[in-house]
Amino acid sequence: MPRLILKIAILFACLVLSSCAEKPAEQHAEFYIFGTLLEVTTWGADQEEARQAFSSLHTRFQEMHRDWHAWEPGLLMEINRQFAAGQAAMASPDIIEMIRHSQFVEEKTGGRFNPAIGAVIGLWGFHTSDYPILGPPPRQSRIDRLVLQKPSSLDIQIDGTMLTSLNPAVQLDFGGIAKGYAIDIACDTLKNLGINNAIVNAGGDLRVFGRHGDRPWRIAVRDPAGGVIGALEARADEAIFTSGNYERFRQDDDSRYPHILDPHTGWPVRDVASVTVITQEGWLADSAATALIVAGLDDWPEVARSLGLDQVLMVDENGKAYLTEKMNERMEFVEGLSKEIVVF
Ligand code: ADP
Ligand code: MG
Repeated sequence: MPRLILKIAILFACLVLSSCAEKPAEQHAEFYIFGTLLEVTTWGADQEEARQAFSSLHTRFQEMHRDWHAWEPGLLMEINRQFAAGQAAMASPDIIEMIRHSQFVEEKTGGRFNPAIGAVIGLWGFHTSDYPILGPPPRQSRIDRLVLQKPSSLDIQIDGTMLTSLNPAVQLDFGGIAKGYAIDIACDTLKNLGINNAIVNAGGDLRVFGRHGDRPWRIAVRDPAGGVIGALEARADEAIFTSGNYERFRQDDDSRYPHILDPHTGWPVRDVASVTVITQEGWLADSAATALIVAGLDDWPEVARSLGLDQVLMVDENGKAYLTEKMNERMEFVEGLSKEIVVF
């Protein structure tokens, strides 16, 4: 299933395999969640400890898949139905936490990240795992009708485990943050079960904690146009996430419409090929990468600053890289790459 593996990311984890004698130090498991292959590799755990941890992860991922899905029946669809009916909805602690994180990011990014635009995401046909989608864009009048209702995660009020939305147009879609938050939960679960070193990697979006023996975890950064643009060494407790505009899209005769939308217009964003963000937590790296795609070439430094980020790499449609000084210091690039360091 190569498409599965290629699907999401620009980054993929290039684990530097230990020599044969050291190999038992690594334990590996694969899971499938939100249409994505997720790989977990521990280092230095004994076999039984790792087996039990993987079994706990399996249960946890199944819960997430069931509860957080935007278009398969489950808790989130039920919450969306109740929002539309103007009723209070019961949520899970995970969903409440994801709403709080989302509200923070929506506020800090001037609404560029907005998980309440599920209806317009669905209108574009992006509630699927089967890409590309074929056919023309939806009618402008239908897009306008949804955008003018201004759904926002900030419309949601949280009272204990109950949610109410002041705006019936709010339809939650956590596609831009769920993978990051799932990886955070996976790392916490592993740590609580006594695993000290691991990498959790969903098609290149990943988080690491602890050590990888004497050598760091080494990560290859893929070029949106194919191949690799560089590599870096992941440090302890770091999340590295990429949003790309070139793998999931709608295609008609002459245009491509990628799956990240500008919530203010309801239209896909097209001038950025990818954004990579490194920070400590997965939920922030994931949602920030999505928001910075929407911010685009002009506004991304301001939005990154507002989120407190200092390690960002953006690649434009022509393959030119724009990056922060801190990102530049730690990345080794392939020769001949056109790049510009952005001071902010
Ligand atoms: P990927 O799923 O390829 O890792 P992202 O993390 O950027 O990519 O998430 C894209 C998904 O986020 C879309 O499929 C959609 O579900 C959702 N989305 C699209 N535009 C936005 C936006 N402006 N704010 C929040 N979520 C969005
Ligand atoms: Mg994202």
